Amino acid sequence: MTVNVTAEAYLARSIALATANVMNSGGPFGAVIVTADGQAFDGVNRVTATNDPTAHAEVAAIRRACAELGRFELSGATLYTSCEPCPMCLASSLWARVDRVIFAADRHDAASVGFDDAVFYEFFENNQPQAVLSVVKLELDGPEAPPVLQPFTTWRSLQTRTDY
Ligand SMILES: [Zn+2]
Repeated sequence: MTVNVTAEAYLARSIALATANVMNSGGPFGAVIVTADGQAFDGVNRVTATNDPTAHAEVAAIRRACAELGRFELSGATLYTSCEPCPMCLASSLWARVDRVIFAADRHDAASVGFDDAVFYEFFENNQPQAVLSVVKLELDGPEAPPVLQPFTTWRSLQTRTDY
């Protein structure tokens, strides 16, 4: 892949955001979303500052970009991040329809200072959910059982829905 000066500059910006965030009660992570037409939106990690385990830099950047653009998808955009995105941030990027992700440090660098990214990657790659998290499908049956598929049938029949 060809990395031009602009990509390197955005990646450097994400690293600068991450470092500055450490001195502002945040985690050592920063991200920048750049849309297809060149608009840039910053995000930083605020997990401990806001008691929000989902407040990762990448998610923050996606939320800011979508809020300011008034859209729920960012197709054509590139996500620059100071560290390889965790599985949550990768999934968030997929839902946001981001085109590509470019990162600086990797999951092993993050693990070396105590972050769980590498463990969570193993959780998905090894397909051993019980190791760190129990995920169970509970079958509902009998006369008292709620209609499990009703939300979907209601959605499918709704003429005014916005597909995503
Ligand atoms: Zn993350």
